[in-house]
Amino acid sequence: MKNILVTGGAGFIGSHTIVELLNKGYNPIILDNFSNSEKFIIDRLKSLTGKKEIKLYEADCTVKSNVLKVFENEKIDGVIHFAAFKAVGESFSKPLEYHKNNVNSLTVLLECMKEHNVDNLVFSSSCTVYGDTEHSPVSEESVKNKPTSPYGRTKAYCEAILNDYSTDEKSKLNAVMLRYFNPIGAHPSGEIGELPLGPPNNLVPYITQTAAGLREELTIFGGDYKTDDGTCLRDYIHVVDVAVAHVASLDWLAERSNELESFNLGSGKGDSVLHVVKTFEKVSNTKVNYKIGERRIGDVTTVYADCAKANKVLNWKTKFSLEDALQHAWQWQLNLKKQ
Ligand code: UDP
Repeated sequence: MKNILVTGGAGFIGSHTIVELLNKGYNPIILDNFSNSEKFIIDRLKSLTGKKEIKLYEADCTVKSNVLKVFENEKIDGVIHFAAFKAVGESFSKPLEYHKNNVNSLTVLLECMKEHNVDNLVFSSSCTVYGDTEHSPVSEESVKNKPTSPYGRTKAYCEAILNDYSTDEKSKLNAVMLRYFNPIGAHPSGEIGELPLGPPNNLVPYITQTAAGLREELTIFGGDYKTDDGTCLRDYIHVVDVAVAHVASLDWLAERSNELESFNLGSGKGDSVLHVVKTFEKVSNTKVNYKIGERRIGDVTTVYADCAKANKVLNWKTKFSLEDALQHAWQWQLNLKKQ
């Protein structure tokens, strides 16, 4: 397996995965419509990896003719499908856009893969498929409650589509569903990172933008949850660790056929929102102006991962700490400010 179509390859996790793919000798082909990413990231990818050219198709992957063109032009051995809308909060005000974009892009991609005999797929799923879990850590076998947001439902539906399709006896699908917990941070070089359009929906970019003076104040959504400090617990994982897991997944798929497996990708521990803010203040030596506000609709109290399956089966483990991730996110924010 060498030539890998990467949808959303200019995005946050996508761009970090392109670096890891190139460093491991894969040949990635990016398909991105730049709806939530910037073109300069492609130049950064080239300079970071020393490549003169990276193949790029600028197109929307919900439009089958666009995607087919890539399959017709390129010899593709596998696909990593990142392209999706990803904000829990925003998905409540844009439910149709979320379902159309996230679900249609997967079915279009599967049709194109089928027509061109491409079997290998790594799909970006999410811990939101577990819903409001009663117990953490959650393993892949944990009881799944209903997802609490339209975003979470799009990921659960996509997983169901993959399950249904893989049981079709004519299907040769060979796929991995990676359930991300909370990817944060930036490349240690400070050259690529998260680029939210407008006010960030996610915690860490909101923290870094507030510390940099671009936002007045961070609102911590809810201080009355049943946790030690009253704020929600999440499992924050460095984006480079997430990217590396995609390469490990391709390596694993390359030696198999007709598999469909899900893997949790997290750090294996729960950190509170307040702990993240305090840790950021420590590593960046700055103050974050914050207040405790109302709870955010769709948030669960606690969710963190049991990653034993990915550790064992994919031979993957995290390398970076919460401190590293926050430091790298801050360096990225400082570099952006200098531009
Ligand atoms: N959060 C917050 N203020 C913000 C953004 C997020 O308090 O401006 C909290 C959010 O309620 C959740 C945690 O930070 O408990 C992580 O949220 P994020 O949106 O980054 O990721 P999610 O867990 O929703 O995928």
